[in-house]
Amino acid sequence: MKVIDRLTQLKSTLFSFELLPPLKGHTIQTVFNTIDRLVAYNPAYINITYHREEVVYRPDSRGGTEPVKVRRRPGTVGLAAAIQQRYNIDVVPHLICGGFDMHETEDALIDLDFLGIHNILALRGDADKVVGKFEPKIGGHRYAVDLVRQIDAMNRGEYLEKFMDKPKSTNFCIGVAGYPEKHPESPNFESDLRHLKEKVEAGATYIVTQMFFDNSKFFNFVERCRSMGIEVPIVPGIKPISVREHLSLLPKIFGVHIPEDLAVEVEKCADNRQVYELGIEWAIAQTKELKNADVPAIHFYTMGKPDNIATIAGSVF
Ligand code: FAD
Repeated sequence: MKVIDRLTQLKSTLFSFELLPPLKGHTIQTVFNTIDRLVAYNPAYINITYHREEVVYRPDSRGGTEPVKVRRRPGTVGLAAAIQQRYNIDVVPHLICGGFDMHETEDALIDLDFLGIHNILALRGDADKVVGKFEPKIGGHRYAVDLVRQIDAMNRGEYLEKFMDKPKSTNFCIGVAGYPEKHPESPNFESDLRHLKEKVEAGATYIVTQMFFDNSKFFNFVERCRSMGIEVPIVPGIKPISVREHLSLLPKIFGVHIPEDLAVEVEKCADNRQVYELGIEWAIAQTKELKNADVPAIHFYTMGKPDNIATIAGSVF
């Protein structure tokens, strides 16, 4: 079933979560263990992230280091298919612009279609950590909106190859990312919302947000989206804080704001065990308020660690 149908035909707020493919060389069983822990809360769908290759420094033959390109977490498409088959739960693989030219994107979409996967979260992809900015592959897309346009074109039977005999239309449901505290690279909120609206006009039917720790940021974001005519369902993304280092890491990596009340409480914790418990408590409070506000679904970032998400889901869903 398409995610948009679930989001619009729901009786109450849905539960969904995101998983990472295992590190290269690790077993798929670790992912199944995460799902086994969360399946009792009846996830409406499961997202699987996509990871492009990255530059890392490895020892070279002269005793120094050299940059090498590695993909630490391949396997998104295979993992998505394996999950859908094993659990009979709809999967939403992430597809990114980074590392793909348009023909490779088309091939990936054909693979997904053949595997019976009809939901995609269409993203630009993270910037390269070493280069510090996003660079598309030659012949690839610079912005998520261009990827959305390509998927939407295939949904209308338009492939890159123009001389095909009666090409089959695909039937993908396309979600995109939104940023309640604006995307870190955006010059301002208005510009980010304008580009978000372009993604919806290009064919995205729902939005999933970046994590946030202050619900007023989310409610304000939804209001601003509505006031500029973005009418599609907006699903809040929640990540519980679990270690003290998140206070500085999450703002730095994701451009999100940690409310002062939360920062004060984290600083009072004697150790990371207490931070972990506090993160659960905070996320439960956030989730309850969002559910009371009738959000269509609440999407959890598991980072492959299901225990805190299970506790939160157990007390809210
Ligand atoms: P875009 O929508 O392309 O926006 C990127 C920036 O460009 C924004 O500042 C936007 O305002 C601006 N912009 C957009 N269009 C234009 C235009 N036409 N002209 C000028 N500026 C424009 N990353 C991964 O690598 N793998 C994942 O699996 C993954 N999953 C994610 C899931 C969620 C729910 C979220 C919120 C993020 C995820 N990310 C993932 C991170 C995401 O790739 C980064 O946040 C990335 O920096 C932006 O992606 P986007 O799709 O929002 O990009």
